[in-house]
Amino acid sequence: MTSPWLVLLPSEAMEVIDLSYGWGNLTCRLSIPDSTALIMAISNEDSDRVKLNEAPEHFLTVADWYPSGYWYRVDERVAVLAWQLRAQDSRLPFDDFQSILPAAFPPKPGSWYLAVTYCEEPPEFREGERLPKWNAWRITPDYVEPAMLDIQTGAELVTSLEGLWPAKLLESQRALVIGTGSIGSAAAEALASYGIGQMDLVDPDRLLFHNVPRHVLGRGDVGKMKVDALHEHLSREWPETKTSPFPLDVIENADFIRPMLDISDIVVCTVDGVEPRRVVSHLARRAGKPVVFACVLGDGQYGEILRIRALPEVGCLDCQRRRLRDTGQMDPEPTLDRGYGEGTRHNPMTAVGGDLHLIGSIAAKIAIATLLRQAGEPGQSLEDDNLVLALRPSGSFGPPFDARRTMNMQWYAATRPYYDCPSCHHA
Ligand SMILES: [Zn+2]
Repeated sequence: MTSPWLVLLPSEAMEVIDLSYGWGNLTCRLSIPDSTALIMAISNEDSDRVKLNEAPEHFLTVADWYPSGYWYRVDERVAVLAWQLRAQDSRLPFDDFQSILPAAFPPKPGSWYLAVTYCEEPPEFREGERLPKWNAWRITPDYVEPAMLDIQTGAELVTSLEGLWPAKLLESQRALVIGTGSIGSAAAEALASYGIGQMDLVDPDRLLFHNVPRHVLGRGDVGKMKVDALHEHLSREWPETKTSPFPLDVIENADFIRPMLDISDIVVCTVDGVEPRRVVSHLARRAGKPVVFACVLGDGQYGEILRIRALPEVGCLDCQRRRLRDTGQMDPEPTLDRGYGEGTRHNPMTAVGGDLHLIGSIAAKIAIATLLRQAGEPGQSLEDDNLVLALRPSGSFGPPFDARRTMNMQWYAATRPYYDCPSCHHA
């Protein structure tokens, strides 16, 4: 048999059928080459056609209309039949099908239609497990074969994981993502996939062609402000996360950033350059908010994630770096290039997209673990604050950036504040 048809069933259609008797019409859009149909409208005995909300950006929303399909309420024999035919990879003569489901309309000669059946109480096929209530069919004048069915559950993406993942708790959390370049866009996407409720995106730059190979966004968004394009992308793909775009520069617009920090639960900072990172560290310390800094250094040889928790015993970014200098180790801050060609300097040798996205995802994971730990969620404890991950090490740096093997991860504890640090000690 060729690949069976797939029917995409919106949950709105299921609600209509669940409240109806007998049978009704389905209107689909379908693509013959993809053997896929999306149900767009439905009718029942009480109503004219009910148009369903279109799935945003779905490829079938521009496909051909296919006006004739049917849904039927059925008894358990049809649920059993679907299961048997699937198991045997077989089909049934139309007349036999109609003897089980007398309401089934015979298609006109040479035509066929798709049908959805609903059995309110399907039988158990093994202890405690019932056969599916919903089935899809392709019905021809000669035979009937089961189709695949996929139920579209609307915006229930991460929320539906409640019980397995603290989705409700994360829904109440708000992250401030400063920098939406290669690392920041990947971090934002990962934060959304963890189910964070709100995200404010800050970046003053536009998306340019040379950003595309390393960015979550694609060529279609070149020319837009990165925050606007990322906001649109995330709103479409992760509608449960409310994002807000702010085309701001953390140094020039520090006065705008301060009130945003006050309403944030955590900051993820992926901007390059010493000054912006220092400013973020300082502002977050004053606001009493934790920051996760993520960057790559040495043209992508190492990734570094530094979490600065808002605790009196944890020093700010400056204190962390000062400790490195005081102990004769390398301070990576001055080596951080401004942005892989995003800023004024174009640096041709850079990290590759996959490595940057990896660092962004790890930064998001660390941010989420920090939030969950803060909220008392067990099983998300993360003791150390500084992670160095070797991406394509050459061995040309001193400790702590001296791992020689790819994917070698080294964790370090955060340093205490220096007594004379103006960020850490203020009235
Ligand atoms: Zn400090």
